[in-house]
Amino acid sequence: ENVYRNFVEVLPDGVYKSTEEGSFIDVNQAMVDILGYDNKAELMAVDIKKQLYFDEIDRESVVLKQDMKEMGVYRMKRKDGSEIWVEDHGWLTHDKDINILYHEGIMRDVTERIKAEIDILKAKEKAEESEIRFKALHNASFGGIAIHDKGIILECNQGLSDVSGFTIDQLIGMDGLLLIAEDSREVVMKNILAQYEKDYEVVGLRKDGEEYPLRLEARNIPYKGNEVRVVEFRDITEAKKAEIEIMKALEKAKESDRLKTAFLSNMSHEIRTPMNGILGFSNLLKEPDLTGDEQKKYIEIIERSGNRMLNTINDIIDISKVESGQMEVAISEVNVNQQLDYLHIFFAPEAENKDIQLNYVTGLPLEESLIKTDREKLYSILTNLIKNAVKYTHEGRIEFGYVLRDSNKLEFYVKDTGIGIPKDRQKAIFDRFVQADIEDAQVYEGSGLGLAISAAYVEMLGGKLWVDSVEKKGSTFYFTLPYQIEN
Ligand code: ADP
Repeated sequence: ENVYRNFVEVLPDGVYKSTEEGSFIDVNQAMVDILGYDNKAELMAVDIKKQLYFDEIDRESVVLKQDMKEMGVYRMKRKDGSEIWVEDHGWLTHDKDINILYHEGIMRDVTERIKAEIDILKAKEKAEESEIRFKALHNASFGGIAIHDKGIILECNQGLSDVSGFTIDQLIGMDGLLLIAEDSREVVMKNILAQYEKDYEVVGLRKDGEEYPLRLEARNIPYKGNEVRVVEFRDITEAKKAEIEIMKALEKAKESDRLKTAFLSNMSHEIRTPMNGILGFSNLLKEPDLTGDEQKKYIEIIERSGNRMLNTINDIIDISKVESGQMEVAISEVNVNQQLDYLHIFFAPEAENKDIQLNYVTGLPLEESLIKTDREKLYSILTNLIKNAVKYTHEGRIEFGYVLRDSNKLEFYVKDTGIGIPKDRQKAIFDRFVQADIEDAQVYEGSGLGLAISAAYVEMLGGKLWVDSVEKKGSTFYFTLPYQIEN
């Protein structure tokens, strides 16, 4: 027995015998060492269930394994409270004489191995988690991401496939420059070589040949032992569209700001000039020794100034009504030839004063020259155009009239041999407050509202207003109105 006892004592593995209740009957030195006790006596005195396990369930599973004579690996508590993992080959023996159940077995400290295994498991879990995270990133389709080495794509995400139109399989191994429009390739190459790390805009090229605004941002990163570049492709078509919208809105705001300024300077001029005339000449009238002729002259100036101011104010009221949608249309039967005749009578003296010929031409016989329209507005449109023609013509002739077109509309015209309008201003003159040359607006009097009002009126009456003009040669203003042949 001594020989065997010695064998057991020098074994590197722990050997034990214990009762079911949980106290040791016998242990070897290795068992004492494994569990970190000072000596056998100390270990023999412990309550196995309470002191050697962290949890009762641990001990129960040990027993279960032993019952099936299987090897088990368990967690146990050392004397200092630290954790060890043991591999236990145990079994149960039953002393029938005294009816006691013993646990016997050999126990090996496998803490190092288990710890290593746990570390590996944890690392694997972490790797899987980061793989899942990477996949999620990878497949998010808000942008394309590629890893490339000198242009050759090594890895890419679904987003790049969505943006470019190529499948991921096609993209991997492809030259990334093929995703860039030809004109942009040089810039991209240069930035790759310079290891540029800020974002920049180029033109992208999709598989179907479509070009699109593209923002690139790249970084150099280590990858499988190499230095490669990861690059984000962002399709900025929408952002560009929004930018253009904003630019347009800004332009519009600037334009209306310009208009406002033009309006204010125009109006202050248009109101101040006649006002000065009225006040100035009223003052002069107070002089006691005026001749009758002088008085008459001053009163005429005051009258003219008053009329000019009234015109301006009427224009402002009219354009405000048009703009606020309050201008109403009153349709009645109008004899066009008659209207032209009135206008001719009205403007003849002014034209004669300026030594300008004034003629009018009717396109239909008197009894057929009837249209249903707004008499006042038609009169006001023609007055405006003829007034402008007289104002901007210094020699030659003015002719106005109309012709029947396509048997369903009358095309009116007012033709002069005046100063003409530069090509680049021919659209703007129909805007509010705009005179052909804003810089020089004050050479001729006028609010710059006349054509805007006329254009609005023509449109209300179902027609169109346009101009045909050559600088220094003259202008012809045209407008149409619907015409119905009466049976
Ligand atoms: P205004 O009160 O300045 O005459 P309008 O709206 O009637 O305002 O005309 C706008 C601008 O168009 C004028 O300032 C002028 O520069 C130009 N214009 C209009 N009619 C003629 C014309 N018959 N010949 C030359 N320029 C014209």
